[in-house]
Amino acid sequence: MNLNAKVAQRVELSPELIILRVIPDGWDLPEFKPGQFAVLGLPGTSMRTNFSDSEEPLLKPEKLIKRAYSIASASTNKEYIEFYVALVRSGALTPRLFALKPGDSIFMGQKLTGMFTLDMVKENTNIIMLSTGTGLAPYMSMLRTVLKSSMENHFVVVHGARHSWDLGYRSELMTLRTICDKLTYIPVISRPKEEMLNWGGDVGYIQNIWEKRAKLFPFTPNSENTHILLCGNPGMIDGMVTNLTAEGFAEHTKKNPGNIHLERYW
Ligand SMILES: Cc1cc2nc3c(=O)[nH]c(=O)nc-3n(C[C@H](O)[C@H](O)[C@H](O)COP(=O)(O)OP(=O)(O)OC[C@H]3O[C@@H](n4cnc5c(N)ncnc54)[C@H](O)[C@@H]3O)c2cc1C
Repeated sequence: MNLNAKVAQRVELSPELIILRVIPDGWDLPEFKPGQFAVLGLPGTSMRTNFSDSEEPLLKPEKLIKRAYSIASASTNKEYIEFYVALVRSGALTPRLFALKPGDSIFMGQKLTGMFTLDMVKENTNIIMLSTGTGLAPYMSMLRTVLKSSMENHFVVVHGARHSWDLGYRSELMTLRTICDKLTYIPVISRPKEEMLNWGGDVGYIQNIWEKRAKLFPFTPNSENTHILLCGNPGMIDGMVTNLTAEGFAEHTKKNPGNIHLERYW
């Protein structure tokens, strides 16, 4: 078993959300495009966090448990690769990822891959990035890499979560929004009653923000001037694809280029 990378940093945003920075151990970080993913893995023998459900004994505990994770860091960042990970309490890998400490070993696949990149987006269009939870990760990589150089596009990032404390990268996105006129950032929460302080922002789901786009977006999106990226909860993705298709947007495939692009996590 080759645990070929190390955890450089683990930032806990909440008991169920972490940012994990990983560095290769004895090999160079390969090139990648923003939006692509890496495979992380740990053996079944590695410890699970106390916050997770108990697990049936594994048949082959020494075997690596591997899963895909979108890269959140910029492709220009050669120092580490960053991941934004949600705990699935009943899951096989995430309870083990959540038990990691800086310096611990981990497997990281050396091939960074995936089609959910800005290559599929036409130049000089607006880009709307809709996400729930850790579905924000590929957009962080895209924005951190291209926001400064692709000034011709307007980017709208809508990030949905249950609570304000589940809105990872909020302060970075708020800062970017302040210094870059080409970025609109709309955080939205679905459980405002559970907030400790009054939430003054948007409430509901991604679909509700789309319904209010005339008020919230700085342009009127249509199938000619906008590409829409969807990542996160499958219910949100399916609901938005239905709404957008009815409005004249088309799902992108290799054969038929379109303006709806999606990455399904599960
Ligand atoms: C291309 C790609 C990129 C991905 N990028 C990320 C990422 O950046 N961050 C991230 O946290 N996950 C990401 N995932 C999901 C990740 O690969 C795992 O599926 C997830 O971490 C659960 O792994 P697990 O072994 O703990 O759970 P498993 O034992 O594999 O259980 C999987 C089940 O858990 C549920 N589930 C999976 N992911 C979630 C989730 N985020 N929230 C709630 N329920 C979930 C689903 O019901 C799924 O069937 C990505 C998946 C793909 C295909």
